[in-house]
Amino acid sequence: MSRPELREPVEAHEIGHCAHRLGGGGRPCGAPATVHLLHDPSLLTIATCDEHLPVALAVDGIADRHPYAHACTKSPRALWRVSTPERVGFCQDPDDEALIAELREAEPVNA
Ligand SMILES: [Zn+2]
Ligand SMILES: [Zn+2]
Repeated sequence: MSRPELREPVEAHEIGHCAHRLGGGGRPCGAPATVHLLHDPSLLTIATCDEHLPVALAVDGIADRHPYAHACTKSPRALWRVSTPERVGFCQDPDDEALIAELREAEPVNA
């Protein structure tokens, strides 16, 4: 059995939908994404439906996961908030003003 291939959705219509390639390299599954996965060290994110979650989880290096939500569609610009024992992670909307302010503050100051 070949390894599942890791790739970002490339077509705009695939965003928000399961990117699993049916039959290895065929057309994408296309079902609405339910789970968002983070692959480390590539830092690619993977959108998957419930049916293909086990396949996606079989990829080595899945570092985090959370339910797929609206801000996830803005990946890879969205900021990945890692899950902790206290709360489930999520994607933060890159156009969220609070986030923009936070990132601006975190910018290293060049002396
Ligand atoms: Zn699927
Ligand atoms: Zn997400």
